[in-house]
Amino acid sequence: MIQTLLPDLTRIRPLMRELLAYHASNDKKSVVLLAVDGVRYADAEKNWRSAHHLQRIASVFPTTSSSCWLSALTGTSVARHGCVGVVFRPDATGETINVFSHADGFTLEGEQTLFHDAAQHGYLPVALTSDVGHLSCGWRQRLLSGARLIESALHFHAPHRANGAIDIDSLINQLHQDIARIAALPVPCFAWIFVDPDHYIHRHGYDSAIHEYLQKLDQLATRWTEKGLVMVAHSDHGLVATEHSPELEHYLHHYLKRKGLTMGGAGRTRWLYVPRQLSTEQIISELSANLPADVEVAKRSDYFPPTEPLAERVGEILLISRSGLFLAEPGIKYEHGSLCRDEWEVPFAIWGDAS
Ligand SMILES: [Zn+2]
Repeated sequence: MIQTLLPDLTRIRPLMRELLAYHASNDKKSVVLLAVDGVRYADAEKNWRSAHHLQRIASVFPTTSSSCWLSALTGTSVARHGCVGVVFRPDATGETINVFSHADGFTLEGEQTLFHDAAQHGYLPVALTSDVGHLSCGWRQRLLSGARLIESALHFHAPHRANGAIDIDSLINQLHQDIARIAALPVPCFAWIFVDPDHYIHRHGYDSAIHEYLQKLDQLATRWTEKGLVMVAHSDHGLVATEHSPELEHYLHHYLKRKGLTMGGAGRTRWLYVPRQLSTEQIISELSANLPADVEVAKRSDYFPPTEPLAERVGEILLISRSGLFLAEPGIKYEHGSLCRDEWEVPFAIWGDAS
């Protein structure tokens, strides 16, 4: 079970709606929302020193970008929007799909986003393509529904710096250029800019370059508030150091093959789709007896309300990493998807006094 006293990512939409309503009726300032992937609350506390407001927000489960960003922009839970991760089975009989390449985003009828709210408050709703620019899929279309798209260059996903060192000043300058394009628009707008340091953190962790980036982002946000913008930033989840366990991989590979089970999920939370003829209870008891104690074996209903039909996209059995040893792709040192504090607690910050 998840027990948290914090507001979670589904609160971002109403928080932003309030902020937009305030500025719409007072100073008509444009509002820029930086969606910064993979930042832990602790990093923001350390580096976003000039923010006027910094709040701890809980992520959503699973702590996977595709689920999190959709919860933030639609204001709905994972079980309700049904984007339960990266790889899942959209319906009980079908094959698993990858949301970052699949054409269908499974948009719910009548679904609206923060961009629709912004338009209702008289703002031009804009999304820069930035670090979702490399994606062409239904998920992106669904996420940005209601926004006017402006093409802008990739930041962390730019091919020449995929795996190597990053040039922080050039990344910050690029963010500055993106914000300048918003500031130059002739009408008040609400703009969403996605930057994906997560892509780098997976391989390098929270090194000095990431801290420098966050510090300079703080300075940049302050500079733009001095020029009349309201700057907001939040994250989706953090990452934790994760080492690949070949023993776990080996055991699961053979067990799944023997039983005819399919695996879904991503990162530190995986799940198993159990064919009807097999007993979920029995598989849970076999896995619980054989997997290390720091891999939690849980029933889907422990985490997703059975009343939400889309929760069935998650397999019947969850495997949740509770330590630093799990399954990880080659070259990946940091992962997310699970419920450790660093994955779970994320920042929501505002620069420019809205009181
Ligand atoms: Zn993410």
